Amino acid sequence: MWTVITTPYADATAVAAVDEARAALLSDVPAADVGDHLGHVVEDGAGPGVVTHLFACARKGYVGWHWSVTVVLVPALGGGAPVTVDEIVLVPGDAAIVAPAWVPYRERIKPGDLSPGDLLPVEDDDARLVPTYAFGDDPLDADEKAQVRQVANDLGLGRVRTLSTSGFDAAAERWYSGEGGPDAPLAQAAPDQCHSCGFMVRLTGHLASSFGVCANGNANDDGKVVSLNHGCGAHSEVRLAKKHEPQPLPEPVFDTLSVDVDAF
Ligand code: SF4
Repeated sequence: MWTVITTPYADATAVAAVDEARAALLSDVPAADVGDHLGHVVEDGAGPGVVTHLFACARKGYVGWHWSVTVVLVPALGGGAPVTVDEIVLVPGDAAIVAPAWVPYRERIKPGDLSPGDLLPVEDDDARLVPTYAFGDDPLDADEKAQVRQVANDLGLGRVRTLSTSGFDAAAERWYSGEGGPDAPLAQAAPDQCHSCGFMVRLTGHLASSFGVCANGNANDDGKVVSLNHGCGAHSEVRLAKKHEPQPLPEPVFDTLSVDVDAF
């Protein structure tokens, strides 16, 4: 059932103009499609003389939709002026089946969606990137940065853009909360962490203090970014406990009493 929203400023004549609203609606749509009057709405900021009357929609396939008829009473016309009909629309109610909200294609793309040959250009104002001259490039200290930037500028070389602070933050959050982070089931059950593993290749630059790359070909994370507090059972210093080590086989027994019939 539609919730009636009203304000103290609703004009009584416009509120009472249910028959006028229904008549206007019936001049546009078949009577069989129009159900009961459900109530009225006074839109915020539209003024007390603008009232929208709601009627149930009985049209097949439109369960939960309703007809919305907006009537207007113009105060300047003085008392006794008739209401006029502003608009008639069919709108979905809370229970209506409607299409999901539009999601731009760019926001639908997930990692792994790109196929060979696909192009995914970034926007010019992508917040994850800044001009390299404004932020510098990763592994160089301040002096080297300045020199390299100058030479690169002079020669027209170097990267045009690099990650911005928000680009670094977004990557760090994504990696830390993903399969290479400390909360992954693999890390939770690991005997030790990546920061002490010989297979962890350190990064340089802004993310070096938190992340590295796993270079253990036998590990699930080989070739992937891992946080320093990630870990797995393929850690370079993992040793089997005595009880887990393979047991030595007993000495072979030379049977001199029975005869192996299959040998004949
Ligand atoms: S082998 Fe395991 S512990 Fe070592 S770096 Fe790779 S993921 Fe980390």
